[in-house]
Amino acid sequence: MTARIIDGKAIAAELRGRVAAEVARVKREHNWVPGLAVVLVGDDPASQIYVRSKHKQTQDAGMASFEHKLPADVLQADLLALIDKLNRDPTVHGILVQLPLPKGLHTETVINAIDPAKDVDGLHPANAGRLAGGFAALSPCTPLGCIILSKSVHASLEGMNAIVIGRSNLVGRPLLQLLLNENATVTIAHSRSRDLPKLCARADLVYAAVGRPEMVRADWIKPGATVIDVGINRLPAAEGKTRLVGDVAFAEVSQVAGAITPVPGGVGQMTVACLLVNTLRAACAIAGVAKPRV
Ligand code: NAP
Repeated sequence: MTARIIDGKAIAAELRGRVAAEVARVKREHNWVPGLAVVLVGDDPASQIYVRSKHKQTQDAGMASFEHKLPADVLQADLLALIDKLNRDPTVHGILVQLPLPKGLHTETVINAIDPAKDVDGLHPANAGRLAGGFAALSPCTPLGCIILSKSVHASLEGMNAIVIGRSNLVGRPLLQLLLNENATVTIAHSRSRDLPKLCARADLVYAAVGRPEMVRADWIKPGATVIDVGINRLPAAEGKTRLVGDVAFAEVSQVAGAITPVPGGVGQMTVACLLVNTLRAACAIAGVAKPRV
């Protein structure tokens, strides 16, 4: 079997198009646009690339984009004061503090300072708790993207056996909750799980969010399963360059799986598109207008 390749790039582009159409409708009907504020602390090169991409895609969708750059040695009190200002700014509907934060800043305190209604990264405990309770919540963007990619293969995930490898607050745990909301039967695995290949073998849906290059092998996978690879790992390549690989051994797993996401070109493409979705949803909820059709 050769797996169908799930084209994250095309699915993300289609989603961004739907967000842009809804933003235009909101502007036409209500005369305002959703606004996203991104706070970048320090000069981590990978974070700078992510923030630039978020800024461009936000503007391309017709939303207002506000960038705040602070030095790595900023006082935590000054960062919290900026978040407080953004919480009260009526033109800002989404606030994202780019992680990881430089040493000396307490991530949990900073995340907790964001108004949960504007927490478009879905990391505030109020949103994590609402999601865990099965209530409407702003959910983290990468797991949202994983669900959309899965549903591009299966119209419904109901009753399917899913395994999520990784239990981080950013990916694994919220993905578990979103899968439960889809009525999947979910196993969550982590570094202390026993016999991971055996746990994977009965899964119709495999989500790898570990951060270990090509850990998931072909003989772990049930023939025909859908494999969603969240991992982004940079390995050394020829001539001093690097190449990206996922947590799944793509070449061999694609011989067994029914559908699989590539790295790059899979989940990564969905994360910013889902950030736009969350910003639009947050804006409509804050303004008290009908839920957007995305
Ligand atoms: P993380 O916080 O480091 O969590 C990794 C998880 O993997 C932990 O729960 C850990 O278990 C588990 N793990 C580690 N070694 C394992 C093993 N040998 N067997 C089974 N489980 C193991 O990472 P993360 O933030 O969730 O990110 C995971 C990967 O996704 C990374 O490659 C990251 O770059 C990528 N990522 C991609 C996107 C995107 O947009 N595509 C977004 C976010 C993250 P314990 O809890 O027991 O330690």
